[in-house]
Amino acid sequence: MNAPPILRPADELPRDGQGRLLLKGLTQSELERWLVEELGERPFRVTQIWKWLYIRFVSSFEEMTDLSKGLREKLVELARVDAIAVDAVFRASDGTRKITWKLDSGAIIESVLIPSENRVTLCISSQVGCAMNCQFCLTGKMGLRGHLSTAEIVDQVAQTRRMFEAEGHISNIVFMGMGEPLHNPDNVIPATQILIDGEGLGLSHRKVTVSTSGLVPEIKRLGQQSDAKLAVSLNATTDEMRDWLMPINRKYPLAVLMEALREFPLRNGDRITLEYVMLKDVNDSLDDARRIVKLIEKVPCKVNLIPFNPHEGTEFQTSPRERVEAFRTFLASKHVHTTIRETRGDDRMAACGQLGRPGEKMPKRMTPPAAMADVLGLTAPSSASPREN
Ligand code: SAH
Ligand code: SF4
Repeated sequence: MNAPPILRPADELPRDGQGRLLLKGLTQSELERWLVEELGERPFRVTQIWKWLYIRFVSSFEEMTDLSKGLREKLVELARVDAIAVDAVFRASDGTRKITWKLDSGAIIESVLIPSENRVTLCISSQVGCAMNCQFCLTGKMGLRGHLSTAEIVDQVAQTRRMFEAEGHISNIVFMGMGEPLHNPDNVIPATQILIDGEGLGLSHRKVTVSTSGLVPEIKRLGQQSDAKLAVSLNATTDEMRDWLMPINRKYPLAVLMEALREFPLRNGDRITLEYVMLKDVNDSLDDARRIVKLIEKVPCKVNLIPFNPHEGTEFQTSPRERVEAFRTFLASKHVHTTIRETRGDDRMAACGQLGRPGEKMPKRMTPPAAMADVLGLTAPSSASPREN
């Protein structure tokens, strides 16, 4: 790993309501400090416990048979193995699974397991709901109900491995479930490092991807403190359009965001992924494609075009396939590496951007630019909404 080891103050480590330490929320350095300095155990116990958690995926301390009985009893009293509980598993016809989890708080979150020919991807959540209010996103309609702890994030991976081990290792993790991961960096960054830890789950740093709507200071922090890869949801090519579709743009407009991407530290051969949800007549013209080429000058990146998944109540529509293809062809002609994401699992509402249920108190809808009102069949606004400073 390149990023320095994470060692948070002991009082910042995740605990349950009874004060028990949630072990899957600790980096290896933090587990070592607790076991050795607080419990007076010998250092080799750290590796033993780490392996039970992330190689054997046990669900209780009783199963950790190479620990002394005394230590196991102490651990039962002071710590917990599982941080979340399986609520339900849904299977889509293409093999995709949506797993819903129950948190101690009673809230329900989701992960999506996507097996394909050469990889198994798990899409995980970082928050309950999301505060960013992107206009095309179902999770955005929930508003933010809470941040997940490091343990609640890591345990989505550990327990999914436990359940689906027979179907092959999870090779890729994407933070593209519910929530804006960089709105919860204190928990997400340690979680990325636990997933990448070579003595445990051992995911390649190239295969753990944090996707963000564009929180610039936290993008910088991710670059310094985590080995994970970065994906950014671009979704629009002008500030006017992005201010509407993704209100976070009012705080960090395109020029500021792209500057942060140019400065993002990359290892040899690594690239940032730019995600672009294709919305019919909103952001899918060749002028948009042209503007992308300009925006990404000097940003080592690839572009992933995502077909919009419609959900109830949305005013947006999926771009026709020909338009997505034409968009890709144009980008490719300008030497931009461009892929089109295959839509998976939509018969069970498990596709990306469909996670969650709208809340009773929905965040307010943003006023679209005047030119968009006609396209979407909305009443024309009297003027564009003001920018935030
Ligand atoms: N908050 C983060 C990660 C979760 S959203 C982010 O915004 O990047 C994961 C991806 O799903 C983002 O690229 C987002 O733009 C996209 N998305 C959201 N709603 C969608 C929808 N209805 N159809 C297709 N993609 C969607
Ligand atoms: Fe949040 Fe991402 Fe949805 Fe925007 S697209 S509301 S940042 S989850």
